[in-house]
Amino acid sequence: MSKSEISGDRYVGVKFRTALTVKDVSSVSGLHELAYWCKQFDHMGLAPPYEYEDGTGSSGNLSFRVPSTDAFMITPAKTSFRKLSAADFVRVTGCDVKEQKIFCEGMNEPSSESFMHCLIYMNRPDVQSIFHGHDQGILSHVKTLDVVMTKSAKSYGTLDLAYEVLKVLGSNNYVVLRGHGFLSMGSSMQDAGELAIRMHEKALDMSESEHPAWDMVGRGRRISKKLLGRLHLK
Ligand SMILES: [Zn+2]
Repeated sequence: MSKSEISGDRYVGVKFRTALTVKDVSSVSGLHELAYWCKQFDHMGLAPPYEYEDGTGSSGNLSFRVPSTDAFMITPAKTSFRKLSAADFVRVTGCDVKEQKIFCEGMNEPSSESFMHCLIYMNRPDVQSIFHGHDQGILSHVKTLDVVMTKSAKSYGTLDLAYEVLKVLGSNNYVVLRGHGFLSMGSSMQDAGELAIRMHEKALDMSESEHPAWDMVGRGRRISKKLLGRLHLK
């Protein structure tokens, strides 16, 4: 997969119909932790900003399961991770695959990858949190990292992409989306977040040892030692 094929998948908004019940969902517990992880993704360059007609969004999507259900809280579409607050998140209560429809509650449209999150939660009862980000270092080192990768590249936000993930998902908690990005999952937000960080740092180590003279543009950043310390205190 070449870089041009990746960037060719331009963001054009969500690709499903949304049945949104306008509702304040900001009191759901866990949203402040989700916002925290969104900021870490932004800091590490795992959710690079993109421009759209009305502003700037972050190209990633993070969610956690509402306990004992298949519903989940997810980041909204077209929103910068730097500005997120609890009131911005969306609760996805279900999806209709045939009608290509997402049912949700909140004040915003849910992430464009809501189908992918929805089908993973339905198929993996053990998964409580799913983080999706973009990491050029991971894509460049898939073979060495020895991680599972989807067999073919599919356009973002489609059911095809969600099904492609299910084909290789098994009991894996880390899946690379061919030519696109990664999924990090776990039994908590902390698990999903720390796995994403570990893989990102491994890929950075590989990039640096291969090309020590490269500048760091496009590689993403390391999490700061201070933040890393805080993670283990949580
Ligand atoms: Zn993506």
